[in-house]
Amino acid sequence: MFQQLLNELNARKVALVAVSKTQPPERVLELYRQGQRIFGENRAQELAAKAAELPKDIVWHLIGHLQTNKVKLVAPVVGMIQSVDSLRLLEEIERQAAAHNRVIDCLLQFYIANEETKFGLSESEACSLLESDAFRQMTHVRICGVMGMATFTNDQEQVRGEFRHLRAIFERLRNQYFPDAPHFHEISMGMSSDWQIAAAEGATMVRIGSLIFGER
Ligand SMILES: *Cc1c(COP(=O)(O)O)cnc(C)c1O
Repeated sequence: MFQQLLNELNARKVALVAVSKTQPPERVLELYRQGQRIFGENRAQELAAKAAELPKDIVWHLIGHLQTNKVKLVAPVVGMIQSVDSLRLLEEIERQAAAHNRVIDCLLQFYIANEETKFGLSESEACSLLESDAFRQMTHVRICGVMGMATFTNDQEQVRGEFRHLRAIFERLRNQYFPDAPHFHEISMGMSSDWQIAAAEGATMVRIGSLIFGER
């Protein structure tokens, strides 16, 4: 199962974030032994605990909503924070990254779904963030692209439309704010149920949990 998924993603040059939230460290190690290095967690404490005990060459992505008071838990170990949804959060990431003398890669999370429960910025909020003096002075965060979650629905055309929307946002932001920044290249979209649609619509990175690990 895992190898077949990996082959399909490799063929399309899409990176896999194996979402290991709620899974015990042994399950992470099983995939690690098969070559997987990028793992996604949605809670700061769980990410920090797993990072402390698992191999140091694992790249941990935080994919869930992050409270500002939890940034310090992940700052020393996180490889990428995919869920940046406010300037205030980014300011705290900047502070904690500076304290650890490192640059933290981040994605801006966008609200693309037709659901009340999903976090994320609107396009205009992202523009205000990127145009702010506070952001321009940051030297310890690097914005590498965008992340989004589609509506949980069987309506494939709705999901496709939401992914297209995210890709359009990505392209506008790249043109406007990152024209000479090759690191701004990630579109993180697609989960177990919709990764194929996401890959077809330009995802560079998918976040897959239950399809690999089984139901949580
Ligand atoms: C849990 C989670 C995933 C993975 O979901 P699956 O349906 O298990 O593949 C992806 N992205 C985010 C933000 C998540 O919280």
